[in-house]
Amino acid sequence: MNAPLIDPFARAITYLRVSVTDRCDFRCVYCMSENMTFLPKKELLTLEELDRLCSTFVGLGVQKLRITGGEPLVRKGIMTFFDSMTRHLDAGTLKELTLTTNGSQLERFAGDLYAAGVRRVNISLDTLDDAKFADITRWGRLSQVLRGVDAAQKAGLRVKINAVALKGFNEDELPALTRWCAERDMDLTWIEVMPMGDLGNEDRLGQYWSLKDVRARYAEEYTVTDLAERSGGPARYVRLEETGQKIGFITPLSHNFCESCNRVRITCTGEIYMCLGQEDVADLRAPLRAHPTDDAPLEAAIRAAIDRKPKGHDFDYSRQQLDGQMPRHMSHTGG
Ligand code: SAM
Ligand code: SF4
Repeated sequence: MNAPLIDPFARAITYLRVSVTDRCDFRCVYCMSENMTFLPKKELLTLEELDRLCSTFVGLGVQKLRITGGEPLVRKGIMTFFDSMTRHLDAGTLKELTLTTNGSQLERFAGDLYAAGVRRVNISLDTLDDAKFADITRWGRLSQVLRGVDAAQKAGLRVKINAVALKGFNEDELPALTRWCAERDMDLTWIEVMPMGDLGNEDRLGQYWSLKDVRARYAEEYTVTDLAERSGGPARYVRLEETGQKIGFITPLSHNFCESCNRVRITCTGEIYMCLGQEDVADLRAPLRAHPTDDAPLEAAIRAAIDRKPKGHDFDYSRQQLDGQMPRHMSHTGG
């Protein structure tokens, strides 16, 4: 293997999140506007380019690859890409291949994903109420996602549910969602809503439900034990002693994880974001396309980008204004 990727703050980059499409079959209100204009196909990395890019990162020490979007499973031919990553799992260079999905296509793809070597999947689900689900996702249907959850578990995939914490929306569902996950042996992670994209009519400050409050809600009903486990990302975990369940809290707006950050993100057009909360970006598509048979320029561009990885980010809700608000949509960089 070539020299691993180490950033200026001595952090090893071992985790790559790759968005494979900006498209989605849902229009979640906190993520997209109803009328989205998507990128022309030629802007997207082809499946072959995605393979080359991810394989180069694996060659540079990336051990965990998370595929996201948009909705990754609506990308045409995406299983070819998953299948092609299996060789890195077989070689032992890649330790984990996983994805974040809205679950709508899992009924169709869960078995194939397992066969490709995927063992865990994050499924985003904010509510178990049909009408509320239709409201928040605009185009989604709860029953389809629940069938996807079933299919994933039946295929042998370990499922983690990700729920965006929204004040006045799913606050009252905390006990039911938690119980539902416990009954199915699924971990549950709450995500603090982030000031992404255009705010439009959605009052995200009004929707902001602090995860400190969520944790306090758990403490009212359960014995909550903090876990030392760290993912190198913005998640913190507790265990509910009564159910044995692991509950995660993702607070991307706090700075307390930046020092252990081990990840970078790639958009579906081959831009690399060194930090979710910073605009600095580098183009990897140009070296990829300009040198179809020589990986050296691509590798040099990756190293140059990692050399610019910032110490931390600028999000801040604390003064009740959206300081550090990022103009891009979550579907652009992938969640
Ligand atoms: N479509 C897939 C899904 O929904 O899981 C993958 C992409 S989605 C952008 C990844 C995650 O980002 C989802 O769990 C979603 O709930 C979360 N997300 C989207 N917009 C968000 C926002 N403004 N704040 C916090 N989380 C957000
Ligand atoms: Fe689609 Fe995921 Fe964004 Fe919802 S959160 S609109 S499912 S990309």
